[in-house]
Amino acid sequence: MKICVLVKEVPDAAVEKRIDSSTGRMDRSGEKNLNPYDTHAIEAAMQIREGGSVPVDEIVAVTMGPESAVRALHKAVSLGADRSVHLTDPLLAGSDVAATGYALAETLKREQPDLVLLGQQSDDGECYTIGAVVAEHLGMPSLTQVIKMDVTDGSLRCERQAEYGYDTVEVSTPAVISVGDAINEPRYPSLKAIMGAKKKPLQTLSVADLGIDANRVGGEHSAAHWLSVKAPPQKAAGVMIEDEDTAETVEKIIAWLDERKLL
Ligand SMILES: Cc1cc2nc3c(=O)[nH]c(=O)nc-3n(C[C@H](O)[C@H](O)[C@H](O)COP(=O)(O)OP(=O)(O)OC[C@H]3O[C@@H](n4cnc5c(N)ncnc54)[C@H](O)[C@@H]3O)c2cc1C
Repeated sequence: MKICVLVKEVPDAAVEKRIDSSTGRMDRSGEKNLNPYDTHAIEAAMQIREGGSVPVDEIVAVTMGPESAVRALHKAVSLGADRSVHLTDPLLAGSDVAATGYALAETLKREQPDLVLLGQQSDDGECYTIGAVVAEHLGMPSLTQVIKMDVTDGSLRCERQAEYGYDTVEVSTPAVISVGDAINEPRYPSLKAIMGAKKKPLQTLSVADLGIDANRVGGEHSAAHWLSVKAPPQKAAGVMIEDEDTAETVEKIIAWLDERKLL
């Protein structure tokens, strides 16, 4: 079995996210990291390999992103991927979800994976949709929020977290599976793996290399356009009630709730 894991470079969790009003795109200038949700997808691939129910020939990390995204690939390799593929091209800048999904699907077609794994969401865009878009282009079944996966030759039995409980679904491979963050506890890379990551094969591809239709990618050819940005309304200051006399405090809380018709 060949597994491709989609990984994305995102602004570090500690960086305040904001839209650059001059470009209408997210300001990605600060510290960046591998999307934390994608570490669960890599771990899921590793657990399939280590589980031994099907032989895993290769785990390939795939990203579309600027030059800096290579660091997310190194991290993915340090977590267990055997090699990585980096789709990067100025023509891709500003791509929306549909364009990103199309370009990633074209990249995956060349790899011909039996299984595509990805995180439930990116920590910046948080669209939760790339899996479905990629699956549609590849003509593969797609499941989201998968928190348990039993792999046999030619099929997957998955448990997915739904709002009302859990679904158990069986799909045939090849398939695109977006894993929920409850699926596993990602491992930490060893120092040796971190040091060795840069030596693992990395293929850099452009739009032309993959025969991607340049009229379907990039900001200009994306259906979604940024129009304006508004800061969320400021929160009103809270009310502090000091508990000097508990009976009195309770009365004050009830009066406060009553005034706002919350009782
Ligand atoms: C008008 C507009 C302009 C934009 N311009 C840019 C831009 O210039 N640069 C930019 O980076 N983004 C840009 N974006 C955001 C970009 O479209 C989204 O990041 C992308 O569509 C994926 O959506 P998401 O990140 O919310 O993914 P989700 O669907 O939330 O992510 C789910 C999973 O998909 C995988 N995934 C997502 N994106 C990638 C990727 N690029 N490579 C590999 N795997 C991935 C990861 O495994 C992730 O966990 C733009 C969006 C809009 C609407």
